[in-house]
Amino acid sequence: MNAPAATHEVLNQSTALTGHNVYSGDRALCDALAFHAPGADENSRVALGALLGSEAMQTHARLANVHKPSLHTHDRFGHRTDSVEFHPSYHALLGAAVGAGLHATPWALGRGAHVERAAGFLMFTQLEPSVLCPVSMTYAVTPALRGNTAVFGEWFGKLASTQYDPRLAFVGSKTGVTMGMGMTEKQGGSDVRANTTRAEFFEDTAWGRCYRLVGHKWFFSAPMSDAFLVLAQTPAGLSCFFLPRVLPDGSLNGITIQRLKDKLGNHANASSEVEFNGALAWLVGEEGRGVPQILEMGTLTRLDCALGTAGLMRGAVALALHHCAQRQAFGKRLIEQPLMQNVLADLAIESEAATALALRLARAIDRQDAPFEAQMRRVLTPVAKFWVCKRGSMLAQEAMECLGGNGYVEEHGEGVMARIYREMPLNSIWEGAGNIMALDLLRALRKRDGRNADVMQALEAELATARGAAASYDRFVDALLARFSDAADGGGDETGARRLAQDVALAVQASLLRRHAPDFVFDAFCHSRLSGSGPQVFGTLPSNVAFDSILQRAMPR
Ligand SMILES: Cc1cc2nc3c(=O)[nH]c(=O)nc-3n(C[C@H](O)[C@H](O)[C@H](O)COP(=O)(O)OP(=O)(O)OC[C@H]3O[C@@H](n4cnc5c(N)ncnc54)[C@H](O)[C@@H]3O)c2cc1C
Repeated sequence: MNAPAATHEVLNQSTALTGHNVYSGDRALCDALAFHAPGADENSRVALGALLGSEAMQTHARLANVHKPSLHTHDRFGHRTDSVEFHPSYHALLGAAVGAGLHATPWALGRGAHVERAAGFLMFTQLEPSVLCPVSMTYAVTPALRGNTAVFGEWFGKLASTQYDPRLAFVGSKTGVTMGMGMTEKQGGSDVRANTTRAEFFEDTAWGRCYRLVGHKWFFSAPMSDAFLVLAQTPAGLSCFFLPRVLPDGSLNGITIQRLKDKLGNHANASSEVEFNGALAWLVGEEGRGVPQILEMGTLTRLDCALGTAGLMRGAVALALHHCAQRQAFGKRLIEQPLMQNVLADLAIESEAATALALRLARAIDRQDAPFEAQMRRVLTPVAKFWVCKRGSMLAQEAMECLGGNGYVEEHGEGVMARIYREMPLNSIWEGAGNIMALDLLRALRKRDGRNADVMQALEAELATARGAAASYDRFVDALLARFSDAADGGGDETGARRLAQDVALAVQASLLRRHAPDFVFDAFCHSRLSGSGPQVFGTLPSNVAFDSILQRAMPR
């Protein structure tokens, strides 16, 4: 309710986007899901979509961001506590995400569940992305944690539980647990081989080989998690360890929180700097094989970076459309102005292509038993993480501009677009920044053994599914496949790795749009992304594109 204004009437302002269904109002997501998980029960997603668009949950998202977490290193009597206090809305949001099973249930449910979980994750990001940090790490930890069967056996049931239990207690007395990861140190994040944290063997226990850790981590998000996978040096080299916050005897482990990061965005989530002062940790996998062990986790958090960004993109586009459908300028609603139609349609196509690519990767993860899908996972993980995250920030800037000055205003956390904009770069940086992803694609394509040749064959087969649908697509794919052989023959040209990652992403996105989007979306994508010199500033679609159909399809409901 608004109070009457004394000096003027408030006119021509748009309304908050609320009460919409984040799932059923997103045709691009519904169609991608119908393609990847046909016949899946929609009821739970429709219910989740309604919850995530509700005013009550939006209020939680605002409050959790306005009231940032605070660190309490000591109690008033001088004892160390190393605890982080969150606003109740943070717990409400995390409880909702865990309750929806976004943190682990696919491991318990089996085939198909990763795609459905991916859709839920993409939807939840539109409400609040930062609480999904511990959700993503908990989801991602399961394959890597299998490297210690004793720990896995005792923890998996609680990891897969849909009950959120924020209490600081040993796993045995909790109804559910979450996990984080610690790799990055001051002297090196991308190059974790530079880690200096030391692990010294302590004793053999029921959980296997136990070590004492001495050192630090420079980025350590969600420090209130129940346990972490961390890297530390042993005489055999960098190794992966399971580090619980509470030890089996109920005492606190030697993890001290130095401070919380003062971040650009991601405000509801706590990211800390920590020191390990003889903390007890259990070996996961083999000594000296820590990087491949923890990368099993990294692969899945990279999926979530792509999914999370695709969700933020959809959120930004929905806000832009909702605003432009109401706001008038120069005698027409903005959505009726031809140049604004071009901008909005271009944003909508980018958002749909991001959703398509991220869900395709989720399907590959769902079907790891099929060799073809295993190859697709290998190649699409760096490609999707690289490209979707790169486009996210650009899209957020343009979507913000559609709202004019209001887009830039926070207003006690009510400025959802501003929150999206601040969040966007994070998914691109963490878990392997852009260059690292592009170089990882080169690694996947280099011909060192038969498996890598299979990667290229798999990609070729994937792209063949859309052959013949558009001349620009066929030309683009032919040129791309010719470049693969360069990469395979040693791939020396690292300077071209980003271009290659971009072009693989564009080709796969086009092939997916061909398969599960209407022709007008596929045509507009090919005209604007696969012809000429590639993606341009948003709003440069050719004039023969079906603007009305694209906008109608993308409008939130
Ligand atoms: C909010 C937030 C939360 C985080 N949470 C966690 C966490 O919970 N756990 C954790 O372990 N880490 C976490 N991180 C750390 C994050 O994963 C690292 O910041 C990231 O991996 C990059 O490492 P770095 O900061 O050391 O940068 P650097 O490794 O120094 O990289 C700097 C730049 O150099 C580029 N680069 C590096 N090597 C090459 C090369 N060979 N060729 C070309 N370019 C190259 C990179 O792409 C990057 O752009 C978090 C980061 C942020 C911002």
